[in-house]
Amino acid sequence: MNTTVSVRECREYDPDMIIRHVAEIYRACGGPVVKGKLVLVKPNLLMDAAPEKCITTHPVVVEAVIRFLQGEGARVIAGDSPALHKPGAKLERSGIYEVCRRTGAGWVDFLKNPSEVRMRNGSIRIASAALDADLVISLPKFKNHELVYFTGAIKNTLGLVPGITKAMQHALHYDRERFSVFLVDLNEAVTPQFFLMDGIMGMEGHGPGQGMPVNTGVLIGSSNPAALDIVASRIAGYDPMDIPTSRIAVARRIWLKGEEEIIYDGPGLSSIVRKDFRRLPISGNENIAVKFIKHRLWFIKKLEKRPVFIHSSCTGCGECIKICPVNAITMHPEKKNRVVLNDRKCIRCFCCSEVCRYNAVEVRRKIIGD
Ligand code: SF4
Ligand code: SF4
Repeated sequence: MNTTVSVRECREYDPDMIIRHVAEIYRACGGPVVKGKLVLVKPNLLMDAAPEKCITTHPVVVEAVIRFLQGEGARVIAGDSPALHKPGAKLERSGIYEVCRRTGAGWVDFLKNPSEVRMRNGSIRIASAALDADLVISLPKFKNHELVYFTGAIKNTLGLVPGITKAMQHALHYDRERFSVFLVDLNEAVTPQFFLMDGIMGMEGHGPGQGMPVNTGVLIGSSNPAALDIVASRIAGYDPMDIPTSRIAVARRIWLKGEEEIIYDGPGLSSIVRKDFRRLPISGNENIAVKFIKHRLWFIKKLEKRPVFIHSSCTGCGECIKICPVNAITMHPEKKNRVVLNDRKCIRCFCCSEVCRYNAVEVRRKIIGD
């Protein structure tokens, strides 16, 4: 598989400059011919949030990609399934529905008629728009991720799984390693043909939903999801093999055998690595004995990072309750705007933190007084 990764420095959401970079990146990576093809553009729309929050792919990047593809003769549709997906949702706050309206790209609802796709182990429902399209172009966002540390090309494919089926995968694959294996399996079953990451503004700290925007200043493209994630996570200052999805993909030799195979096109990597990027601390890879002890000893479990609910910020919207795949959260029976966590049930998937719009769920060790 083509292992080229192309990077362009880009500090602002300037539409003309971005469309030029998109064309250069696509050509440098030998992106697939799209003339006469139906192409699904799939941004990262974790939730319907304003672009300046940096939770979602910026609409200027989405528009540049759509216009580039249309200029190459493609028919373009666009869509994604947010963590909590209501039928007919247009996700207007993100600005992407408006981009579709302006460019004539059709907005598709991933909840309509999903189809079953076979994976290494079992099968999964995928948006039929992804299967009906000739090509899928994925537009991940440069962000930290509490569970898998860094979210990129491999993680963005999860949005092809419609609605609550996504969150349920956390219950089925209930820790970081298992969930990462599942993500790689999913990408093996449905691999988008090209990836372009919006890293102009990224998210450091508590991503993917509650971190801080930061000007990371890059656009990164590749037709190889593992190669893109390796380069992107290196720019964020991680050791790419600390990112479980990249490590698993490399161990399986699906898209490449190692970082040394990457053909890099762009400015000197050392000049764009963000040493000051606020990364998430990497937990060591635990062996079975350590996992067993942690699982058995409640007081060790208490020392783990977990969701901590900030009651003063909670509005009682109930989104965390809807997303929790193991029903570990309930509304307090008496106190208004207060949720209660059943710590024994919680599998630490951090979906509640991803969907909370009010920064009322922190992921950290609990301290006395919380
Ligand atoms: S913690 Fe957040 S998501 Fe949950 S009810 Fe409160 S405000 Fe809503
Ligand atoms: S409470 Fe939050 S972290 Fe725990 S299982 Fe539910 S969604 Fe996941």
